[in-house]
Parts: sequence; structure tokens; C-alpha cells
Amino acid sequence: IIEVVAVNKWYGNFQALTDVDLKVDAGERIVVCGPSGSGKSTMIRCINGLEKVQKGRIVVDGIDLTASAHNVEAVRQEVGMVFQQFNLFPHMTVLQNCMLAPMRSRRVDKQAAEALAMKYLTRVRIADQALKYPSQLSGGQQQRVAIARALCMTPKIMLFDEPTSALDPEMVKEVLDTMIGLADDGMTMLCVTHEMGFARSVADRVIFMADGKIIEQAPPATFFSHPEHEKTRSFLGQIL
Ligand code: ATP
Ligand code: MG
Repeated sequence: IIEVVAVNKWYGNFQALTDVDLKVDAGERIVVCGPSGSGKSTMIRCINGLEKVQKGRIVVDGIDLTASAHNVEAVRQEVGMVFQQFNLFPHMTVLQNCMLAPMRSRRVDKQAAEALAMKYLTRVRIADQALKYPSQLSGGQQQRVAIARALCMTPKIMLFDEPTSALDPEMVKEVLDTMIGLADDGMTMLCVTHEMGFARSVADRVIFMADGKIIEQAPPATFFSHPEHEKTRSFLGQIL
């Protein structure tokens, strides 16, 4: 459902991605890890068209992102994204945050958008906070709202960029549990995270990036017990 072929990406003169190849099947759960600056965020931002690539091809659900700007819009409709900073609109309630995108870009009417929002807010177990503003919620709750908001667009793929790294430790679990729930429902997920417990229990495959390249990828059992590359071993040594 995601096909990244020989992708190279530069910011000015700086090469952030070098010959990245990645295939993700529908229903697969992928965890991406690697040192700071290795290109993890850049890669997933390229997959939903937030960043342009200068060389190579990215096809998402049969739509070639790299072919036209029009396709970027189409792909965004299929792909939900959750960031480290929750990026909720502060002047809107939780419910309004969740209703906005379906009404604007899917032309869902107000009543249907509200029903959809309540469905997904219930799913992330936060429906009772629907009328509050983001600033009135804890970080973990805000992140669950951000997940519900993305789900309201009924995406085929969910991308996560370090969704728990801005959270206080006691709130990490509630967000990971929500993500585990999504995985159990069969969502295709690509998650940048250093939560290795999550990787072990949920991921079909763990990808390790360094210096803008995919250095190694393997199922978690192999990845953690027999990392092949020296850079992977040294990284795991630092975080485990
Ligand atoms: P982290 O773990 O710190 O989030 P990352 O693996 O997500 O790191 P990226 O954010 O993808 O890394 O950045 C990869 C490289 O590209 C870094 O060297 C970064 O400084 C550079 N970079 C990222 N965004 C930009 C930008 N908008 N302009 C210029 N350089 C950028
Ligand atoms: Mg990043």
C-alpha cells in the first residue's frame, strides 16, 4: 500500500534521504527508529506529501505522489498523521477539532461529522471531554484527540512521528494502548518511535535509519536479538 522507490531528498545542499526504498503492505505495522537527524521524520513527511522529494518515486494506495500536486491532495485523504506536538486547534473544542477536516475536505454534513467525531472520540476513550478545549486536557488526552481527529478522515494508513515523546511518562501508556487498539483493528501503521516495548509487541517489522538511509530492517525478534549492523547495535546499546 506504500511504495518508496530510490527516494533522494535534499534540503538545500544537505541530503536528508539517500536511496531510500521501502514497501509496506496493507495491514502491516512498521516501527521506524534511529538516531536524531537520521531522516525518520523526513521520510514519513515525504510519504504524505508534506515534503517534496527531488528524486525517486512514492506511490501510496496506487496514487503516485511524485507525479502531480493533485495526487498529493488525494494521498492526504487516505493518510492520517499524528505528530509529536499534538497540533490541535486551540480555539476549537475537541469535537470541533474532529469535525473540521471531514466537513471541509470530505463534504460530510455537520450532523454526520459530529456522529463520526463522537464515534472515534469514544474509540480513544475520550468522548466525555468532547466539549473542552485542548488546553483543558492533559498531554495524553490531547494526543488521543489528535489520533481520533486523524481517524475521522477514515484513513487507510496512519503515520505517527514520535507520538509519545512529548508526553510525561505516566501518559505514554494511554497513547500506546490506543495505538495498539488501532493495530489490533488491522490499521496499516508506520510509527517513528523509540518505544521498543511497543515495537516488540506490535511491529511486524522494525526499520533502522542512520544518515538518511535505511540501514537495516527485520522482524522485532530478529532486530533486537541479532542486529546486523554496527550502527544498529550501538543505537540499541544506547536506548535499551
Ligand atoms: P529526530 O529524531 O531528531 O526527530 P529525524 O530522524 O526525524 O530526527 P529529520 O527531522 O528527518 O530527522 O531530519 C533529517 C536531517 O534533515 C537533519 O539533519 C535535519 O537537520 C535536516 N532537516 C530537517 N528538516 C529540515 C528543513 N526543513 N530544512 C533544512 N534541513 C532540515
Ligand atoms: Mg523526527
